[in-house]
Amino acid sequence: MSWWLWSLGRVLLLLKVAASVNFLHHRYEQLVQALYDVKGSCPYITRLYSIGRSVQGRHLYVLEFSDYPGVHEPMEPEFKYVANMHGNEVLGRELLIQLAEFLCEEYRHGNQRITELIHETRIHLMPSMNPDGYEVAASQHQQTLRDLMGRNNANGVDLNRNFPDLNTVMYHNEKHGGLNHHLPLPDNWRNQVEPETLAVIEWLKSYNFVLSANLHGGAVVANYPYDKAHEQRTRGVWLPTSSPTPDDNLFKKLSKGYSYAHGWMHRGTNCGDFFPDGITNGASWYSLSKGMQDFNYLFSNCFEITLELSCNKFPPEQELEFEWLANREALIAYIEEVHHGIKGMVTDDNNNKVAGAVISVEGIGHDITSGEQGDYFRLLLPGTYTVTASANGYQSQTERVVVGPAGPSVVSTEAKLKTPIS
Ligand SMILES: [Zn+2]
Repeated sequence: MSWWLWSLGRVLLLLKVAASVNFLHHRYEQLVQALYDVKGSCPYITRLYSIGRSVQGRHLYVLEFSDYPGVHEPMEPEFKYVANMHGNEVLGRELLIQLAEFLCEEYRHGNQRITELIHETRIHLMPSMNPDGYEVAASQHQQTLRDLMGRNNANGVDLNRNFPDLNTVMYHNEKHGGLNHHLPLPDNWRNQVEPETLAVIEWLKSYNFVLSANLHGGAVVANYPYDKAHEQRTRGVWLPTSSPTPDDNLFKKLSKGYSYAHGWMHRGTNCGDFFPDGITNGASWYSLSKGMQDFNYLFSNCFEITLELSCNKFPPEQELEFEWLANREALIAYIEEVHHGIKGMVTDDNNNKVAGAVISVEGIGHDITSGEQGDYFRLLLPGTYTVTASANGYQSQTERVVVGPAGPSVVSTEAKLKTPIS
C-alpha cells in the first residue's frame, strides 16, 4: 500500500458569478427539469441517477459531477450533499440546484479551482431526500404554514429519526469491547425504515463516500456528531451534554471550515441561539436518536455533518440569491475538505487489491476500511500518525505518516500486506 498525503490549495479564487440561474423555489417537476438542464449543458462531467422512490413515487435524484461520470476512479474520493430531508426545510434544495449550475458553468468557463475539484473528486448532489414533504410545504400559501407543514415524509415519519440506532450498539461496544466502525444493521432493518431511508442506506452501501453534509434549516449552525447523547438523566430531566466522536477535533475543523467560509455563520449569534464559532456538537444542542449523520459515521466510511442554513425554514424567494452568495464559497470549500488526510491502495504481495482492509490510526478509536478497488481515504488533521492496515489472512502493516497543513503535500513510503508465514 502506498501512503499519499494530499490536499488542495485554496489560493484560487472563484472567477465569476453564475448568471443563468433563476432564484425560484423549484417544485418537483421544475427540480427535475433543472437537473436535466444541467446535465444537458455539461454532459461530459455529469450523470443524473435516482437512488429510489419516495412513498408517493417521486424519484430521489442525484446529480453526479466527475471527469468520469458513473465510474469510481481508484484514489479519487466520493463526496455527497443531501438536502431537503425535512420537506419544509428548503434552502438546501435550492442551494444544491444553484451549486450544480455553478459547477457546470464554471467548468465550461475553465475556472481552474472548479476544474481541479471536478477532476479530483466525484461529487454527488441530492437536492431532495423528501420530495413528498416538500410538495406539502410548497403548496401552502401562508408563510407560517410553509414553515410548519411537510417536515415528515408521506407516512408522517421524520426521516432524521428513522435510521437504525447504531449509537446504542457503539456505546455498548465502548464499554464492553467490540467494533467501533461499520456496525452491523439489525436483522429486520428493511421493515423498520421508510422507503427514503432505505434508499439512502443502499446508496451508502453502493458508494464509498468519504465526506458528506446534510442540509437543513431552522437555525444557522454547523452541527457535528454525535447527535445522540450517552444516557444522561438527572432527576428525570434530560440535560444537554456533549457527545464527541473519536474524531471530535476533525469534526470541529470540518464544521469551522463551513462556518468561517459562510457569510455570518461563524459569528454564532443566529436565530436567537448562540453557538461559538457557529458550530455545535449535536447532543450538546439537543439529543436525537436514529439521525442520519451518526448513522453515516457508525455504518460507513463517510463523515457527515448537518448544516442548518436559515432561520426561516422556507425563506421567501427574494432571499434566495442573497443566501446563495452567503453559502457559495462555503459549499465549495467544504467539498475541498475531502482532500485532506491520507489515502492509498491496499494490495497483497501478488498485487491483488484488498477490499475491506481495516485502516486504524493510533489514538483515534474509529477505523475506516478500503473500498472495493482497494483504495482508502482517511480524513485527518495535520500531524504525525501511526497508521496500521490489516485484513483477515494477512500480516498487518504499520507506517508513520505526516499529514501536512493545507497546501500541496508529499508522497510518503510504500508497503504491501503480506500473507502470514504459516
Ligand atoms: Zn431539519
